[in-house]
Amino acid sequence: MPDLRSSVGSALDRGGRCLADAGIPDAAREALRLWSDLADCPPARVLLARHVEPAPALRAAFERAVARRAAGEPLAHVTGLAGFRRLTLASDGRALIPRPETEGMVDLALAMTRRGRALDLGTGSGCLALALADEGDYDPVVAVDRSAAALDLAATNAARTGRRVRWVRGDWTAPVRTERFALVVSNPPYLTSEEVARLDPSVARWEPADALDGGPDGLEAIRQVLTRSLGVLLPGGAMVLELDSRRAGPTARLATDLGWQEVRITQDTFGRDRYLTARRELTA
Ligand code: GLN
Repeated sequence: MPDLRSSVGSALDRGGRCLADAGIPDAAREALRLWSDLADCPPARVLLARHVEPAPALRAAFERAVARRAAGEPLAHVTGLAGFRRLTLASDGRALIPRPETEGMVDLALAMTRRGRALDLGTGSGCLALALADEGDYDPVVAVDRSAAALDLAATNAARTGRRVRWVRGDWTAPVRTERFALVVSNPPYLTSEEVARLDPSVARWEPADALDGGPDGLEAIRQVLTRSLGVLLPGGAMVLELDSRRAGPTARLATDLGWQEVRITQDTFGRDRYLTARRELTA
């Protein structure tokens, strides 16, 4: 009979208490996630092994991970992993952590057009581009970002997932201005600079402000995306854009003023206005 004080179960319980004391909601589940990711073992199997005595190196790694999480570092940075759609991606401070609400962009894109050439503007971790390559019949998927560090992370994620995307560094559509696409998707920075300054430390300390700050009115990047995408979309081509619920109205008006057709706002799974879909006009 192993010493129960040094079992997987006791380590999990202690880790969970430490996270709970640090004010982390869902502490027991997060402790299990940390163990499962570090041990590379599904959570259900970890629970079946509660009585087992773990390797000292694994226990030590778990304790270090719990301490980082308790100090406020996001779970995705501590484990280095984030789930997005069907993919498990590497995640760190080089790009925004993939958010659950961004997953809804993929359904909207697939519903508008499943094939043709697809473009992701401001790809960050590459999550949208890789999910499109994984779930659609697009050929090719091209993804642009002005951050070399983000593109490094995205390329790591392409290697991890075995999905093919052409990564291009540059300013929005500039590096692909001679190409034409059936679909453009983008999750650009869309908070106002003031909102960024007031962000919760759990986001502000760990995620790149460049990926969040949409300027004084929060619409600077969105304006660029909506204006420039018209120049690289085929007639009738589809646009799916993530936005802030507080600026759904102004974003839709901007799109309409720029000549976009079929401009629609839809909600995320939390019931908040989150996406704009539109098409480039058929004749032009
Ligand atoms: N939804 C993100 C947040 O509030 C913002 C993402 C973005 O600016 N694209 O943290």
